[in-house]
Amino acid sequence: MGPAEAPAQAPTEPNLEAFEVLDLPDADAYRTGDGRPGPLYWQQEADYAIDVELLPEENRIEGTQTITYTNNAPSELNFLWVQMDQNLFAPGSRGEAVVPPDARFSGFFEGGGYDVSNLRIEHNGTMYTPEYVIDDTRLRVDLNAPLAAEGDSLALTMDFSFELPDYGADRMGMFDAEEGTVYQLAQWYPRMYVYDDVSGWNVLPYLGQGEYYLEYGQFDLDITVPHDFIVTATGALQNPDEVLTDTQQERLADARASRSPVTIIADEEVGDPDTRPVSSGTLTWQYQADDVRDVAWAASRSFIWDAARADAGTHTVLAQSLYPAEGLGGGENSTPGWEESTEYVQHSVEFYSERYTPYPYDNAVNVGGIVAGMEYPQVMFCSVDARGRGLFGVTDHEFGHTWFPMLVGSDERRWAWMDEGLNTFMNLYSTADFYGQDIERVIRQSSQQAARFAQSSLADQPIMTQADHIRRQALGMLAYRKPAVGLALLREHVVGPDRFDAAFKTYIDRWAYKHPQPSDFFRTIESVAGEELDWFWRGWFYETEGADPAVAEVNVDAATATIAQQTDLLLPVPVELTFDDGSTQMVRVPTEAFATGDTHTISWDEERTIDHITIDPQQMLPDVDRSNNAWTPSE
Ligand SMILES: [Zn+2]
Repeated sequence: MGPAEAPAQAPTEPNLEAFEVLDLPDADAYRTGDGRPGPLYWQQEADYAIDVELLPEENRIEGTQTITYTNNAPSELNFLWVQMDQNLFAPGSRGEAVVPPDARFSGFFEGGGYDVSNLRIEHNGTMYTPEYVIDDTRLRVDLNAPLAAEGDSLALTMDFSFELPDYGADRMGMFDAEEGTVYQLAQWYPRMYVYDDVSGWNVLPYLGQGEYYLEYGQFDLDITVPHDFIVTATGALQNPDEVLTDTQQERLADARASRSPVTIIADEEVGDPDTRPVSSGTLTWQYQADDVRDVAWAASRSFIWDAARADAGTHTVLAQSLYPAEGLGGGENSTPGWEESTEYVQHSVEFYSERYTPYPYDNAVNVGGIVAGMEYPQVMFCSVDARGRGLFGVTDHEFGHTWFPMLVGSDERRWAWMDEGLNTFMNLYSTADFYGQDIERVIRQSSQQAARFAQSSLADQPIMTQADHIRRQALGMLAYRKPAVGLALLREHVVGPDRFDAAFKTYIDRWAYKHPQPSDFFRTIESVAGEELDWFWRGWFYETEGADPAVAEVNVDAATATIAQQTDLLLPVPVELTFDDGSTQMVRVPTEAFATGDTHTISWDEERTIDHITIDPQQMLPDVDRSNNAWTPSE
């Protein structure tokens, strides 16, 4: 059976707009046309030395910090912008005006917000008190002398304190456990806004929904708590001899060599004075972290603690879980709870390390508390109430964030999909691996959800919508599921796994510890995969339609069928031909076939008798109308 001759194509209107070159920013010396950091790429550095004390009887934080800020930009700076996230919770904040009080990203309360004092700057050997302005979640510090271009640095010191919100926009807060409150601290110290080559100072306010855009740096963190608290934080603990008992240190050493979780503090040991090296006063837990964009921590008297080894390829990681007894599973349905958390952490660290690039830290800590799910470098906050698959799902998602945005430091405040979407894409495969699911089935479900969304009243916003402008009800789709299934379709259906995976990994390698823009992602995927994809980015990321391929016409005698694209999302169309002898043939109509028109005619061996035709038999496409996908002669 020889190949059928290509059938003649009927002339129709070409799809010029769908295939136009995407209007991305011009390449320059900072960002190349193929999506790499350019030869003159630069970014700022912000190193922090922070001393902080938790005052549990007042639910208050008091701290002093020095930010050493280095200006690597090619231009001098006359002022600095600092993020004051706790001011979101202050009465009358801009966020309070736009976020409903019952929403996930709320938490406003009388008494919320920072007290900041004693600002001083040390620059070129001179110490002075700068002028400054605090407006809502932003602090501008005016410099007496400019911070020179290309490497000048200064030290900005300030004292800060605030009362903890019970529930801080689902990213920090306090859980009232029976054995003692679980404090989860994040967005807790004033952080530098990012100054970059694209927008200069990125001064979007913190409104709740949009997350963070942060510089990388080195952190020295000293956390003082009452002696009977257990602390965990981003970084390596510098003084275990002072804050842990000999027994706990021995157990941690055992855990570093153990595949199965080793108990560091057992349920029945919680509150036992023997679990603490001293019996009164306070203890200061000292941490150090390099090349991180943030530090988070948690503290409680109620922590159960276990740990085990995870293998990240290049090194071993200590996977840990700290949670109060409220997190334990069992009960009526015997659903597993936090006692399985460390096993989930192990899977995430190992799966993503193997598939993408090694987990970059020595610790991977899951903390159970009030926060439903939030990511920080090395430390994740997940709901103490999560159980079974729900706990796996949230743990896997938060640890997936290690790659986006902890390692690849995108601007989450503008582009939620650049971390949530890429991470959710990775989670599809990790979850399928952990539970032995068929990945095609997983993608099919997500694809069908995206198709339903495309027909909903929320469909008028594209993925490329600024994070704080996305409707609350559309966030799960536009930031998470739609970009995730789009990338899965790109991998499985458009480009193929080999070329896609190489491109995706290259994006991580190129932009690790840097600040990529959407165009850098699009260009890297295109250039490494070797595929012109402007039509795809436009259709899936910038526009809002689903796909709708249809069997338009069949000529049995001529052995031809015409496939029509009824929307502008011109994904390749898989067509299954079934002949009267029951045999089948798959024909793939590539996207390019629709450049010159909305229809494309395929053909088969005239000697064979067609029985029926099915477009997309695996139902992988985000097809808004499947009723036009099948043809049978009886029609
Ligand atoms: Zn997330």
